[in-house]
Parts: sequence; structure tokens; C-alpha cells
Amino acid sequence: MSEIIRDVIIIGGGPAGLTSGIYASRARMKALLIDNFGIQGQALTADIIENYPGFHDGFTGIQFIANLKKQSEKFGLQTVSEKVVTINYSPKIIEVQTEDNLHHSRSLIIATGSKPRELGIPGENTFTNRGVSYCAVCDAPLYKNKSVVVIGGGDTAIEEALFLSKFAEKVTIIHRREKLRAVMILQERVLLNRKITLVWNSQVTEISGANKVESVQVENVQTREKTKIDCDAVFMAVGYEPNTQLLKNIVKVNEKGYIITDDEMKTDKPGIFAAGDCRQKRLKQMVTACSDGATAAFSAEQYVDSLE
Ligand code: NAP
Repeated sequence: MSEIIRDVIIIGGGPAGLTSGIYASRARMKALLIDNFGIQGQALTADIIENYPGFHDGFTGIQFIANLKKQSEKFGLQTVSEKVVTINYSPKIIEVQTEDNLHHSRSLIIATGSKPRELGIPGENTFTNRGVSYCAVCDAPLYKNKSVVVIGGGDTAIEEALFLSKFAEKVTIIHRREKLRAVMILQERVLLNRKITLVWNSQVTEISGANKVESVQVENVQTREKTKIDCDAVFMAVGYEPNTQLLKNIVKVNEKGYIITDDEMKTDKPGIFAAGDCRQKRLKQMVTACSDGATAAFSAEQYVDSLE
């Protein structure tokens, strides 16, 4: 058990959490960042981040996180890699129990991000890591000169398809509507890419194979026509869900589990703040995650000052 009472504990080591850590350390708060929530952060799976203002050549998610860590260490942020198991809230002291330690703090910033959503179709779980993947950057090199399917029509699906086309011979995007959700610049690139084919108005209903993925069953949602597409892998990109399981009974969340905050990142519990993709907001980007993190640290500092 740790006897130290921190000013702020930050849970999550992605762009939002690390930015909170930089701001809190520079404010000379007694801050602790607890990383490793038991999942790989979404930022690490980004092949290239090219819309972060000021970096015209872009950078990878791995580079970004490494730089944020280095920057937070420079200002003295303490970080531990422990899995949080419970959080006990009281307005004066918040207890964060990990598998290894009990930590105490006057305030808490939740920056736990989100994880890829499962589609819930037959074969998805059976073939996970045997052809079914939720991360193109992690697994694309396994499918050099192969044929792969991507499910979804958002930024993730299109970025994954573009990245996969550097390795695979054929990439088929299967989307349930006839309009992509992804930002226009990605749509333009995908339409110009000869390796990528789009199958519109269609749902994948089953993933099949003997020991690994060999094909998907596809149904056209308008004509109900069923077809089989042979493939070596299926990349799921049908959205994300927030990592807020531990918080659901502590702070107010919306119907999808995203934490509800105001513009200052305050939740409905005094002393608890949320930042990044785990909170309810319209634009989920690296730049907005960092912005949230800075605001949350500033709000936490003001809150702790008000206690004294
Ligand atoms: P998303 O924007 O929620 O898109 C999910 C896609 O999956 C949609 O096209 C959706 O179809 C489809 N989908 C959802 N449920 C489905 C189902 N049951 N069956 C078939 N298809 C289904 O998720 P995302 O692309 O992962 O992006 C998440 C957030 O991160 C977004 O805010 C996005 O802008 C952001 N992001 C940004 C970047 C970037 O800026 N470079 C990169 C990645 C992600 P419909 O379109 O019909 O709803």
C-alpha cells in the first residue's frame, strides 16, 4: 500500500493521459500516471498520423507515444504499469486499487481510451488471431501477396485498407451502406488504389475456414443476394467502445458507456475528470485527445487548490 496521497492520479497512457501528465507535472502537482489498463492503446496502432497540426510529414503512433513519454519524464511525471481493478470514490480521497498496490489521490483523470468493437458474427471469435484481426498495423505484414477483407466504412476501415494494400495483393472493403463515413481525403485515396475493391450495401454474415480464415459469407442488404468471398484474413473496423467498465457505477456515462463531462472535463463527481476517447464527444482525434488531457489537468489543479 502506498502511503503517499497524490494530487492527481491519471489512468491511461495514451495521448490524453500523457498530455495530462505533462501539464500536471509542469504545474508541480504530485501526479502518478497508471499505464497498462490491460489493453494495447489505440494510438499505438496508427500507421501514420498526418493530421496533427504542425507536423507536415506526419509520424507513427509508436513515435508519438514514445515522444509524449519522454516529454512527461522530462518534467518528472511518475508512471507505473499496473492493472487497475477497483476505484473507490469519496469527495476527499479517491482510492485506486491495482493488482499490485493501493494508491490514494485527491483527484482522478480517467483517460482509458477505447477498444475495437466486435461485430458478433459466427467465426469471429473462433478465428481471432487465425486470420481475424483488429489491427492492420500489427498484422498486415502476415498477409503479403494475399487476399484480405476489411469490414467497415469509417476512418479506421479506410486507413487500414490503405495500409494493407502495401502488403496484400487484394483488399476488399465490405461496407453496409453505399456511402463511406471516412474523411474525404481518405475516400479519394481508396478510390484511386487499384488493389482495393469496394463492396457496397453488404454485410458479412459469417467467417469460415478449416483451421484459419478461408472465406466470408456476404449478404447484400438490398437484394438479399448471398455471395462467398475467398480471403486469407478479415480486418474488423466497425468502430470502438469505451474502456469504462470500472467507472460505470462511479461516474455518469451515456447509453454506449462513454463518460459524460462538461467543457472543463469534469464528470458528475467532484474531483473526477475524463479525457480523450473514453468520454462522450463528437471528434475523436489525437489532437482533441491531447486538448482534453491539457484541460483535464488544468481543471484537476484548480480542484485540488480549492480543497486547500
Ligand atoms: P466509426 O467512425 O464509428 O465507423 C465505424 C464503421 O463501421 C462505419 O462505417 C459503420 O457503418 C460500420 N459499422 C458499424 N457497425 C457495423 C455493423 N454492425 N455491421 C457493419 N458495419 C458496421 O469508427 P472508426 O472508423 O473506428 O473511427 C472511430 C473514431 O476515430 C472516429 O471518430 C474517427 O473519425 C476516428 N478516427 C480518426 C482517424 C484519423 O483522423 N485519421 C483514424 C481512425 C479513427 P455506417 O457508416 O453505416 O455507420
